[in-house]
Amino acid sequence: MELREGLTFDDVLLVPKYSDITSRSQTDLSTRLSRNIAVNIPFVSANMDTVTESSMAVAMARAGGLGIIHRFLTIQEQAGEVLKVKRSGSVVIENPYSISSEKSIKDALLYADDKGISGLLVVDSDSKLVGIVTERDLLFANTDSKLADIMTRDVVTARPGVELDDAKAILHKHRIEKLPITDESGSIRGLITSKDITNNADYPNASKDKKGRPLVGAAVGVKGDFLERSEALLDAGADVLVVDIAHGHSENELGTVRNIKKAFPDCELIAGNIATAEGAQDLIKAGVDAVKVGVGSGSICITRVITGSGVPQLTAVMDCARVCRDHDIPLISDGGTRTSGDATKALAAGASSVMLGSMLGGTDESPGTVLTKNNKRYKVYRGMASLAASIGRKSKETGSLSFDDNLNDYVAEGVEAMVPYKGTVTDILKQLTGGLRSGLSYCGAHTILQMQKNAEFIKMSRAGFAESQPHDVSLM
Ligand code: IMP
Repeated sequence: MELREGLTFDDVLLVPKYSDITSRSQTDLSTRLSRNIAVNIPFVSANMDTVTESSMAVAMARAGGLGIIHRFLTIQEQAGEVLKVKRSGSVVIENPYSISSEKSIKDALLYADDKGISGLLVVDSDSKLVGIVTERDLLFANTDSKLADIMTRDVVTARPGVELDDAKAILHKHRIEKLPITDESGSIRGLITSKDITNNADYPNASKDKKGRPLVGAAVGVKGDFLERSEALLDAGADVLVVDIAHGHSENELGTVRNIKKAFPDCELIAGNIATAEGAQDLIKAGVDAVKVGVGSGSICITRVITGSGVPQLTAVMDCARVCRDHDIPLISDGGTRTSGDATKALAAGASSVMLGSMLGGTDESPGTVLTKNNKRYKVYRGMASLAASIGRKSKETGSLSFDDNLNDYVAEGVEAMVPYKGTVTDILKQLTGGLRSGLSYCGAHTILQMQKNAEFIKMSRAGFAESQPHDVSLM
């Protein structure tokens, strides 16, 4: 049997090339996530329950990337997370949440909390706008009072089609933050908020859909409710679905891809994970719009230890990229990225984008709370196939975990870990994109595509690797 060599990021370097770039700002990081989705930076947050829910997805889209909401939620919860992202960035919210004036303040507080919003439009029994309540109205109020008793009744409104500058002028003139759009009969047609207007101006690089809303994706599995889930996620506005299982080159995965494409032909669909050219070929034949590559490469992954299977990440990307290039299908490198240098190597090897787990876990936007150990701050980051994640899922399904449950039946392929608390995603992405821009420059490339054409990898020895790290100094 012929034994091939498999390489990963630390085995290689990119050979520097002549560069005419005089400033990093001359580089362009835009790329394709999938056949029909373009993003402005090549970074995607992983669909893991300690990485991506709506806060992360909003931050990723604002920075120009995209987040994939994980699937370990009920269908309703996951679709709700997608909706939160979609509503977070459009200048005109098309179907703003409203509440009946007969409801109590307590109801309004619960509703606003559930939807993640700070104020509500109040309607009568004919769904006509009769008032508005904001956070300030609800603060310290008697929670049993009816909204009709405390709402602001003289609501300043605008008509459908109002120009953005006119809306800004109205908001300024009346010193208000919310401008409902109503038709002549008083029915609500939309809502403009000052926060959404400033957000739009603050994030010029944001990745947006045709309506100006943030792009967002969501994951589905291959068993049970995947069609129902897909439908709910697409209805909520998900721009792309990801069929995500550990062994994506399998009949389970291929059948699911075909079924989703048959039921929702216009759905943009990513599938994975795979690590071989044959896997890419079969997924592309089944109709996917991008493939996700990485088996055993994740920081919390023990698939290679438990099963003996996997392909070192750089070789996996290179093998799959050859097939993807022939079919013009983008490739996402998933797992094992620890630095901007790793990301640059993955992109140079043929990936169009990079999915990040551990690099984004531990940020303000990742789900979970900050823990302190030995005076250092951390957040939990765990594999979705870890025992802890499995127990979490089981207790969510059944309400609790009984002592009769035999935990030894579960063969984990991931571990539960902690990552240092890192602050905001924006800061992490600034470092990553800055490093990547420099990486492009070292390859003499203005774009990712150009870098892929110019890239020349060189294998390094152990001594070369040691030399590549800070050495012979005491780090401060
Ligand atoms: P990281 O960026 O190196 O932390 O890797 C993140 C990736 O690891 C995810 O996007 C998944 O593809 C993969 N992954 C997540 N959970 C598990 C697991 O429990 N076992 C194996 N791989 C996992």
